[in-house]
Amino acid sequence: MAYVISRWCIRGGECIEVCPTDCIVPGPRDNKEWPYLYIDPDKCIDCGACVSECPKHAIFPEVEVPAEYAEDIALNRKFFAEGPGYWKFDMEELRKERAPA
Ligand code: SF4
Ligand code: SF4
Repeated sequence: MAYVISRWCIRGGECIEVCPTDCIVPGPRDNKEWPYLYIDPDKCIDCGACVSECPKHAIFPEVEVPAEYAEDIALNRKFFAEGPGYWKFDMEELRKERAPA
């Protein structure tokens, strides 16, 4: 099992800051095909640390993803298998996308 980021993600990267395995990666900015952040299912250790950091409650254990977001499970996997995957993103740039507190 792994955790999954759903389409409720508004970017910002709070989840990245707490992930112990660095398995959360943003879609490249302004890339409409990959607008959210994605979790690598092969590296996620199911610790759940990212869940409480998410202001949009966008992260679910795979088995608890609501039915209406079920396709997001495959999208997280596809991001790493066929999409951008790991790339050298700028964390400071991502932080700037956060909504003001
Ligand atoms: S559950 Fe843990 S390992 Fe998996 S993405 Fe969240 S913080 Fe990272
Ligand atoms: S904390 Fe939630 S909204 Fe923010 S980037 Fe991570 S999944 Fe997206």
